[in-house]
Amino acid sequence: MSKREITVVRTTNGKARPDPNHLGFGKYFTDHMFVMDYDRENGWHSPRVIPYQPITLDPATMVFHYGQTVFEGLKAYHSQDGRTLLFRPEKNVERLNRSCSRLNIPEVEEEAFLSGLKTLIQVDRDWIPTTEGTSLYIRPFILPTETNLRVAPASSYKFVIILSPVGSYYPEGINPVGINVEKQYTRAVLGGTGTAKTAGNYCAGYKAQQKASESGAAQVLWLDGIEKKYIEEVGSMNIFFKIDGEVVTPQLNGSILEGITRMSIIELLQEWGIPVTERKISFDEFVKAYQEERVEEVFGTGTAAVISPVGEFRYQDTKYLINNRQTGDLSKKLYETITGIQTGKIYDEFGWTV
Ligand code: PMP
Repeated sequence: MSKREITVVRTTNGKARPDPNHLGFGKYFTDHMFVMDYDRENGWHSPRVIPYQPITLDPATMVFHYGQTVFEGLKAYHSQDGRTLLFRPEKNVERLNRSCSRLNIPEVEEEAFLSGLKTLIQVDRDWIPTTEGTSLYIRPFILPTETNLRVAPASSYKFVIILSPVGSYYPEGINPVGINVEKQYTRAVLGGTGTAKTAGNYCAGYKAQQKASESGAAQVLWLDGIEKKYIEEVGSMNIFFKIDGEVVTPQLNGSILEGITRMSIIELLQEWGIPVTERKISFDEFVKAYQEERVEEVFGTGTAAVISPVGEFRYQDTKYLINNRQTGDLSKKLYETITGIQTGKIYDEFGWTV
């Protein structure tokens, strides 16, 4: 057998299926996982689908110490005509490899990633939930497996894919949420790791998220790390503003994560002939447009929630109510179009689904 051929070992002990109406996000996992290994001599090798199981590691394994990890997030959908659809998975492979490059992790070939993913999904196909609003969340990740405490890139890694049937990410669903404008903590800075999906970026946001939650807001509005002036992202989503009929999103600046939903929304808006601009936008510019009553809609975008409308920003003691806390027409139309394409309900003229 070649070291690149995928082997499949099926479980003899399948788990009970969770209630499709109470899936939550990332709580349940399917019966199988995909794994392949890397070492310097063999490169990525031994791709396999095996029963879902713990990974046992020595306490000195590098993953526990210096955070040299990367991950991705995408979804599989069950279409009404019985197909299994993935949304632009090659974009996730490209982004994973950009993250790998930033973290000094050996890149993964697109073919190895996609064939592993497709084999795993075929094995666990009957785990894809079919209820409206549900999907199968896919979490690929890479961890260093070398046992050593030296501060340097590891010489061996594991690439793993696990699958989780999910409902909507935010309990609010597509309802508008409150956002706390964060001036103290920073998510990412130019030259840092903000453009990579690496563990440290996410735990570094917990303090600000805690502040937001304590103030009754759902998420954090991240500003640039230097002047604390320009808007970057919202929670772990990209952000869009509709001001005076024009849609504006912060331009990719070396600290913003390039979202695949963001990219798709820009392409959709261009197709619809709605003006969309990628540029710097400061919180002060938002406030000025708000005071002049020119702000029509604000929404976050990401794989997990797709579109998450912003109902209000909170900055110190001031609240900025957006669209009277209602979901705007453009947010609704974008949500329906993207989820329609993802689930095969709307014809995919872009060729996004696989
Ligand atoms: N920003 C951050 C920090 C994220 O983690 C994500 C989720 N991957 C996004 C934006 C949105 O990206 P996508 O649309 O690819 O899910």
